[in-house]
Amino acid sequence: MIKLHNIEKVYRTDTIETLALNGISLDIEKGEFLSVMGPSGCGKSTLLNIMGLLDEPSSGAITIAGEKIDRMSDQQLAHFRNKRLGFIFQSYHLINDLHVLDNVELPLLYRKVNAKERRRLATQALEKVGLSNRLKHFPTQLSGGQKQRVAIARAIVGEPEIILADEPTGNLDSAMGNEIMDILLQLNSRDKTTIVMVTHDEVMAKKTHRLVRLFDGTQVQ
Ligand code: ADP
Ligand code: ADP
Repeated sequence: MIKLHNIEKVYRTDTIETLALNGISLDIEKGEFLSVMGPSGCGKSTLLNIMGLLDEPSSGAITIAGEKIDRMSDQQLAHFRNKRLGFIFQSYHLINDLHVLDNVELPLLYRKVNAKERRRLATQALEKVGLSNRLKHFPTQLSGGQKQRVAIARAIVGEPEIILADEPTGNLDSAMGNEIMDILLQLNSRDKTTIVMVTHDEVMAKKTHRLVRLFDGTQVQ
């Protein structure tokens, strides 16, 4: 589902060059749930951003869902991201002055889905994450775990094949973290969604199919 071949990423400023990824090759199968661990600064977010087509590698090749990425224009990339990928972040990235339903509808608005259908799909996604009773709440009125469930609903509302999650349980206590992890495990097993998750939590990582460890931009496991 995601193939990375010899990915290198160099960040250059006037004075410093940082080799953030040093030749990463990975083959992630459809339906796989992969976790990525490693110390701060080892390249985890860079790797996830490259898989999510938010950042370009300095060299190497990426194929996602059979499509070679380097042949796409920026517009095609944006469209591909919106249609095929779902993103979840540690800090939720919700829009505070939109209520829960409107937050979840956002990816569909971009796709020009009509209002009635947007509402139907967003309501359905919120049912999946067990948040049907908070549709008109605003993010500031929700607990951390509830905010992350809204973010998951937003990520899955367009039925993406792949979910990329950057420390989705990083801001949550262990009870809420486990709830979020259970939702991700269910999306993976029931809907066959491929998931790549960056985490600092060995317990969460053990629940996934495979663990990749990075150190200084190199895969060590
Ligand atoms: P992690 O997510 O594992 O903490 P990152 O992928 O964020 O690691 O960063 C990997 C390395 O690249 C670090 O050394 C970091 O300082 C560097 N880096 C990340 N983003 C940038 C950037 N925009 N410009 C320069 N260096 C960066
Ligand atoms: P937790 O203890 O799980 O962190 P909170 O104590 O923050 O949860 O909230 C408990 C419940 O009250 C949540 O379900 C949340 O939706 C609701 N809630 C919290 N703050 C507000 C608010 N300002 N307005 C309306 N509902 C709120």
